[in-house]
Amino acid sequence: MTYIARVAIPRPIRRQFDYLVPQGLSVHPGQRVQVPFGRQQITGLVTALHQQAPEGFALKTITRALDPDPALPGETLSLLSWAAAYYQHPIGECLFTALPPALRHGKPAQLKEAIHWQPVAPLPDTTILGRAKKQQELLNWLTSQVVAVDQQTILRQGFSRAQLLSLQQKGLITTTEAPSHHTPHKALTPLPALTPAQQQALAALAPERDKYSCHLLYGITGSGKTEVYLHYLKQHLADDKQAMVLVPEINLTPQTVARFQRYFGSRILVWHSALNDSERLAAWLKLRQGEPIILIGTRSAVMMPFTRLGAIIVDEEHDSSYKQGEGFRYSGRDLAVYRGHLQQCPVILGSATPSLESLHNCQQGKYQLVKLEQRAQGASPPTIKLLDIRSRPLEGGLSRPALSAIEQCLNRGEQALVFVNRRGFAPVMMCFDCGHIEECPRCDARLTYHRRDHALRCHHCEYQAPLPPNCPSCKSENFKPVGQGTERTEDTLRQQFPNHPIIRVDRDTTRHKNSMDKLVAQVRAGEPCVLVGTQMLTKGHDFPAVTLVVAVNADGGLFSVDFRAPEQLIQTLVQVSGRAGRAKRPGEVIIQTCHSEHPLLQQLCTGHYLEAAEKLLVERSASQLPPYRAMAILRAEAARMEDSIAFLDQARTSMNHTGLTLWGPLPALIARRADRFRAQLIITGDHKSALQRALQSLCNSLDMQKLPNSLKWQVDMDPTETG
Ligand code: ADP
Ligand code: ZN
Ligand code: ZN
Repeated sequence: MTYIARVAIPRPIRRQFDYLVPQGLSVHPGQRVQVPFGRQQITGLVTALHQQAPEGFALKTITRALDPDPALPGETLSLLSWAAAYYQHPIGECLFTALPPALRHGKPAQLKEAIHWQPVAPLPDTTILGRAKKQQELLNWLTSQVVAVDQQTILRQGFSRAQLLSLQQKGLITTTEAPSHHTPHKALTPLPALTPAQQQALAALAPERDKYSCHLLYGITGSGKTEVYLHYLKQHLADDKQAMVLVPEINLTPQTVARFQRYFGSRILVWHSALNDSERLAAWLKLRQGEPIILIGTRSAVMMPFTRLGAIIVDEEHDSSYKQGEGFRYSGRDLAVYRGHLQQCPVILGSATPSLESLHNCQQGKYQLVKLEQRAQGASPPTIKLLDIRSRPLEGGLSRPALSAIEQCLNRGEQALVFVNRRGFAPVMMCFDCGHIEECPRCDARLTYHRRDHALRCHHCEYQAPLPPNCPSCKSENFKPVGQGTERTEDTLRQQFPNHPIIRVDRDTTRHKNSMDKLVAQVRAGEPCVLVGTQMLTKGHDFPAVTLVVAVNADGGLFSVDFRAPEQLIQTLVQVSGRAGRAKRPGEVIIQTCHSEHPLLQQLCTGHYLEAAEKLLVERSASQLPPYRAMAILRAEAARMEDSIAFLDQARTSMNHTGLTLWGPLPALIARRADRFRAQLIITGDHKSALQRALQSLCNSLDMQKLPNSLKWQVDMDPTETG
């Protein structure tokens, strides 16, 4: 009997290739193989086996198998095959995204053993360290870690091999064996007892073992969702099972990871984009081998090779970072739910501001809604006040009443947080004589002025230029920044409050590794200070001493063309408001706006997110938008706008429109980005399945077409941005 293997290869090609399986070689779906492809030998992944070749085909033969067993377990292979079809993305690329880099490149699925370090226990007298400050620092750092740390990670913290060896010689630290066997050297702390409200929520979440269910945990900010997750895992996750905990951006939430580690110790593994190749391989192999890991990771963790999955938690499920913005545009949250189906395990989606999609699924009875509406530490939710700033003088974007609220807050010895939605100094440089505005030469976008480095930068491409001293058009000196960015608000705050630290948190101040950890630690130390920052500040942080939140300008999302903008606006405002008054002291929120009569903002002041969200759902239903219709966007970009539009026009004509509604083609909101002209065709359908079928035949026919060289196209299923 001859066997034929269907092989997916890591190329942007939707089809797969058949190869003969040589006599004596046994291959299985999920296995990596080396195959001839064109004139090369490449790594491919077997997705299926058939018996006997169709007559008349001269098939090439698999060169060799790279692993004795399948690299991808069956469940992961099914998940990714489904995702490739659902998101209309080439399957080879999907499957290879799920492999750690070493395996993608055909290297063996083995680990070079990494050396791990930990302090000896009990720790002897450390006075021999004398004035070796850096060694002392290293020892302190190792002691603060819950588990032994591998050498790579230590070196990346800025410590050296020499310091490690020196501490070892002094008998203060030791190495441990294979990373999977290291033992926690610190006693794990017991979990805090749950409040009655948390207990109720936990009881409502109780799953049937080994069965799919999906609960949406609506827990207001500060309600202690993390503690509920911890107790949930403790109660319901069997000792030999694995769990997946998805979080939006790991480097933004070091506290959350620490809280999990304190209780579960070395059972916790983290997964995020900053890991190096060997760390990735190590984490991947542990899961693949079925170790009972609790993996905390960002969206791509959903593709990890779990074989004994017992629980899935998606924290801040509404967060836009779960959706990949390019290439394989999957939603980590949605794949997590699908994975729960596939592996028959319970799923919890948690948020203080659930997405309209998930709320809709609750209304439909697909998910169960569990409410947790009390703050864990007893404080009541913050009071929210709209402050109309029409015709009020502003300094750095801040009105007088806002500044005096900050002053009072500092005088009480508390912390204030100021939310600005843009980084940089000012979003626009304008000439007040001729009206000239500096724009990016490569995009349809204005340049942002960054004062710290005297540069104009485009936030849509890599373009950067020094700030011209005068107006480039008329040479006038009346060339000035307009509008607010975090740097400008920071400056104003420094002038106003010279005796208090002003801590700016945005992408520019957190570029370096661990810089976020340091900022967070400084704030959590509790001294009075003012935090100023972007979106980043709104995500999941727990700063107990913050009692005042000021949103500099809330109006951006009110009149946007993107139908998701109002939803995102209220989510951001509720999340940022939720940073106030989380511990004992009550919180106050001031939202500056030019539209204080706007019903959405008015609604927010009542403090009921769910009610505001329900209103938005009614609007979505009336305008026939998701989640009431399935949506996809066909995006095209080319060196000329005509080409993008012509391509989409043709796609539109080639489609069978039954049950579908099409909008466009239209140029994208930022029509030119990095000198590429972008356009889109929006397609909605009554049902996902009908839309899926239409997209599949569309992709098949587009694959056949001869296209202008510069043209690239892509399907974005369940888009989160429609600009
Ligand atoms: P959120 O639901 O906003 O994610 P957190 O999980 O950050 O809330 O919890 C808010 C704060 O309340 C944290 O400081 C946390 O340690 C504390 N907390 C939560 N649950 C309890 C509890 N049962 N007992 C004591 N403190 C708790
Ligand atoms: Zn000018
Ligand atoms: Zn640009």
